[in-house]
Amino acid sequence: MRNLQAILRAHADLAVKVGVNLQPGQRLLVIGPLANGGVALEAAPLVREIAASAYRAGARLVEALWGDEALQLARFRLAPRDSFDETSRFLPAALVEHADAGDAILSVYANDPDQLKDEDPGLITAVQQATARAARPFRERISRNATNWSVVAAAAPAWARRVFPDVDQDRALERLWDTIARLCRLDAPDPVAAWRSHLESLTMRKDRLNQSRYKALRYRGPGIDLTIGLPEGHVWVSGQSTSPRGIAFAPNIPTEEVFTLPHKDRVDGVVSSSRPLSYGGTLIDDFRIEFIEGRAVRATAAKGEAVLRELIGTDGGAARLGEVALVPHGSPISQSGLLFYNTLFDENAASHVALGSAYTFTLAGGAALSDHDFERAGGNRSAVHVDFMIGSGGLDIDGVRHDGATEPLMRAGEWAEA
Ligand code: ZN
Ligand code: ZN
Repeated sequence: MRNLQAILRAHADLAVKVGVNLQPGQRLLVIGPLANGGVALEAAPLVREIAASAYRAGARLVEALWGDEALQLARFRLAPRDSFDETSRFLPAALVEHADAGDAILSVYANDPDQLKDEDPGLITAVQQATARAARPFRERISRNATNWSVVAAAAPAWARRVFPDVDQDRALERLWDTIARLCRLDAPDPVAAWRSHLESLTMRKDRLNQSRYKALRYRGPGIDLTIGLPEGHVWVSGQSTSPRGIAFAPNIPTEEVFTLPHKDRVDGVVSSSRPLSYGGTLIDDFRIEFIEGRAVRATAAKGEAVLRELIGTDGGAARLGEVALVPHGSPISQSGLLFYNTLFDENAASHVALGSAYTFTLAGGAALSDHDFERAGGNRSAVHVDFMIGSGGLDIDGVRHDGATEPLMRAGEWAEA
């Protein structure tokens, strides 16, 4: 696609009609990474198209919370060193208020993955942890789909430079938009229809996994020898969710995954990352985590080991898994061969797991359980949720039945059964 304006408009329509599936009469709040305070200014051309699309779909009011990355950088350079546990006075409460009012909430990522690469890891962690704690009531509502929400991405100069380091700035930005357009199926004759059929095929896959009721998944591959227990009542989920008001929405665009709840105490073995993890503005690469009875007991990394350890030490739950997701190696994002330094894209390039909080909707009846009962059922709780990629063309996964028999689920990174 050559015409940027056409891409922006198609992407905005997709975010509004399929992403949040905005209903006539709803409000829309556009946000961004919470540690930055909101959506990056570089995303403004897309956000304006989103506002237009939302009003065309019947929105009563569209607002954006902006978060200028340069302000975040000024803070790291100049703010008192003991002030990094301070968080916004209004933002956490405002987010909860919008979610409780049933407004559509759309997060747009357009951020520089290297924004904080030269900053003190201790301060980065302090900001991440303080933000995670402050945003916990909001995250809890999102995790039980209390309202229709979605996350999309917008190309931005610094991000584009990182993904396409060998071309000049303008070309890099153009290529990133073209890539986003392709991976989000914006080049289909009717992108909204293309998404509905893609979401349908993911639904069929998760239905089949739900019928299998596996007790565990066994992973074998390069640097991976891992068993992940699945709790009784785990639910496989794909890229479509439904809010309590019955609005079907797609929380992530793009999405290629089916995922469920790992048992927080039944993960054993060793897992290695197959792609770098961009976390809190730094890169953790080539890392290996060893689990015993669900807990990460050893973590090493060729790059970013200190940040990885800080992440795992955020709270008790940050050392345990809260999500297990399957993505075929042949997914368009994997086949693009690109590294996006952005979880929205990179997590859809490969099978992955997440350290930290579990989604209550991945357990049957989980949303109605108290925190204590959710944990007793095997669900993990934490202030963080960080996905990292473990899938590759060399990964085999078996499903383990309750009688101990195994059946091939994935071979060489692809679904064993079409
Ligand atoms: Zn995932
Ligand atoms: Zn995740």
